[in-house]
Amino acid sequence: MAKRLNPNLAKIHRNYTVEEVANLFSVHKNTVRLWVKDGLAINDDKRPMLILGSELKHYLQAKRKSNKRKCQLFEIYCVRCRAPKIPAENMVDYEPINDCLGRLIGICPSCDGIINKYFNIAKLVHIQDKLDITLPKTLKHINESVKPLLNSDFK
Ligand SMILES: [Zn+2]
Repeated sequence: MAKRLNPNLAKIHRNYTVEEVANLFSVHKNTVRLWVKDGLAINDDKRPMLILGSELKHYLQAKRKSNKRKCQLFEIYCVRCRAPKIPAENMVDYEPINDCLGRLIGICPSCDGIINKYFNIAKLVHIQDKLDITLPKTLKHINESVKPLLNSDFK
């Protein structure tokens, strides 16, 4: 599981070397170098390269937010693992609630807990190449009925 990094550990009026940042957040120096590649701003006209505390703080705050948003259509958020997960064996059940909404139910590959989320029936077509969806018998015709929706303005 990814470490939860506290952006507030970075003092905004300080500059840090890669090594200092690694020590501060108990991560490997290569992790810090990845952050730099990923867009963390550095003061690169000096050696050793220095990372501004304020930039570091912003970078980690943004990273934290984007981690929260990262649930893909074919992933389900696991409350126990606090992370989006692709259901084990790529297998999910679809349990309809009404004509257009239902639940995707799968098993978390990390903790074996049940994970589920609300799912619009029209979107099933977008995940059927990623997941093996088990539908109730009454919905076996789903592939026929949702195909025309492929051209709709789904984003
Ligand atoms: Zn889990």
